[in-house]
Amino acid sequence: MSLSARQKDMLKTMGVSLWNARHDVPELKASSVISEDISEDIAVDINDVENVEENKSYPVVDWLLLQKQVQTCQACDLHATRTNTVFGVGDTNASWMIIGEAPGADEDLKGEPFVGKAGQLLNQMLISIGLSRETVFIANILKCRPPNNRDPHVEEVTACQSFLDQQIEYIKPKVILAVGRVSAQNLLQTKETIGRLRGGKYFYRDTGIPVIATYHPAYLLRSPLEKRKVWQDLVLAKKIISAKR
Ligand code: URA
Repeated sequence: MSLSARQKDMLKTMGVSLWNARHDVPELKASSVISEDISEDIAVDINDVENVEENKSYPVVDWLLLQKQVQTCQACDLHATRTNTVFGVGDTNASWMIIGEAPGADEDLKGEPFVGKAGQLLNQMLISIGLSRETVFIANILKCRPPNNRDPHVEEVTACQSFLDQQIEYIKPKVILAVGRVSAQNLLQTKETIGRLRGGKYFYRDTGIPVIATYHPAYLLRSPLEKRKVWQDLVLAKKIISAKR
């Protein structure tokens, strides 16, 4: 796939210059040429642009710019202690969006959500209902790791909010699975316990996108008997998707 004239025009208007990476020069990655100020002239690797799905209601470059904005974000103090930002992974056309709390140590090192022990259990949970990491989109409330895995502070959630909102708007999932108390409470703007939120069908703000709350896989590692309840939550989410077809 190559960029259309319209896309090239749009990139030009946005001050984005295109360059063709020579793949025999691996150090020339888009991330290493990105300017600190995203509003200034930005170089985007044309090959990155070609790797993103195009059938969205607004241009693929928006998704790439969002990634660059997250990479360079300094909106809260967490930027000072992070190793990597954790943007999210998966299919940008997914029906399911899985939203956790924040990166932990493993995720901070790898720059990918849910890669530690809890992540492995999440993968198994997904497989149990016929999904995989590649067929859903996985993100977190926060894109940077809070030190010592403490709960996110309100100002950190606020600073990160628009990144998640833009991801949700772009992906337009058929259902959001909020994993864990922090995720569910922030997505649903409530202080209700996860135990009481489970089993209900809610909506993400005014988007009309259903939200199902379930236990965090890290909790399941400590309380494996609760896996059955998570299975029920996944089945509920699946039913909601089937009803939308
Ligand atoms: N826990 C989360 O909530 N998110 C991750 O990415 C990893 C662990």
